[in-house]
Amino acid sequence: MPTGLCFDELTLWHSMGPHTLYLPSGDWLQPVSGAGHAESPETKRRLKSLLDVSGLTAHLEVASAPPATEADLRRIHPAGYLARFRAASAGIGGDLGEGAPFGHGSYDIACLSAGLAIHALDQTLSGTWTNAYSISRPPGHHCLPDYPMGFCLLANIPVAIEAMRAKHGLGKVAVVDWDVHHGNGTQAIFYDRPDVLTISLHQQNCYPADTGHADERGTGAGLGANINIPLLPGGGHAEYLAALQQIVLPALMRYKPDLIVIASGLDANGFDPLARMQASSETFRAMTRLLMQTATALNARLTAVHEGGYSEALVPFCGLAILEELSGQRTKVVDPFLSAIEASQPPPEFHALELKRLADLRKLHDL
Ligand code: ZN
Repeated sequence: MPTGLCFDELTLWHSMGPHTLYLPSGDWLQPVSGAGHAESPETKRRLKSLLDVSGLTAHLEVASAPPATEADLRRIHPAGYLARFRAASAGIGGDLGEGAPFGHGSYDIACLSAGLAIHALDQTLSGTWTNAYSISRPPGHHCLPDYPMGFCLLANIPVAIEAMRAKHGLGKVAVVDWDVHHGNGTQAIFYDRPDVLTISLHQQNCYPADTGHADERGTGAGLGANINIPLLPGGGHAEYLAALQQIVLPALMRYKPDLIVIASGLDANGFDPLARMQASSETFRAMTRLLMQTATALNARLTAVHEGGYSEALVPFCGLAILEELSGQRTKVVDPFLSAIEASQPPPEFHALELKRLADLRKLHDL
């Protein structure tokens, strides 16, 4: 069975208007030529291009998908938010929340982005694909049910999980969010739910402000089913792998999910303009391998859905490494940035400090 790649060129036509990095251009911010906004189509387009020219695409099953339906969205989002989003999208666009601008027609594109995630989960759960990666754009993990945030307009992964619960009678699901920012939307949506374990690895106090703390552990029946791993800025390959080995993998083995969904932001890479971590393409490869091994041990299915990642140069190599692992096909591509990132990993004292913090977190979660 092949690895699936969900992709649609139309998702790259989602426009956010004139921005400089992530702020609206104007006043002292000179407009930037080209995409302008950090969340540009280019990171995703260049990832798809590298998959193509490396020859990896030929080993994948590439598919688009129908957009998420109103019924799919209503399992997560209230009708009022969807109506406001649809109306603004029919006009010139706007921003209905915080840092989530969109232009004319973005509602339909956001539905397509969520639809790609649904398709990736569906084909994996039905056994048509071994596993899958959905290049979803716009991303989803910051989006609250009625308040879009951080470039995220619909909660792609929660929408897809609930669609699969309706269709397949899905059991327990774990979301492992390795985007460098806190997966606050996914956390909020499932905070009181024991049937979805949400785990977020992120740079401490990056975005959003004042969320993603270790003591946010879920509530009510969901107490214990939310794990935040706030990493110190500057951490890299060894710190990410330690976080997986010390916290993420034991938590998955204890929870025993039927499905693991990776919220695959690639912005923990060492060149990202919106964060200060030092992961490399080899970090993403190693994390993918560890989660695949864990999924196999648990007899769970595994699917990844794209989130952030803003280095146009490096995102393609991180994404390629993930898809090489998922498909078991190694291309001839060598990441030309790998040595530069390996040269800037933090010193042993930093690693020792992070190991101590992870040990405290392990105790907190009784792992
Ligand atoms: Zn991010």
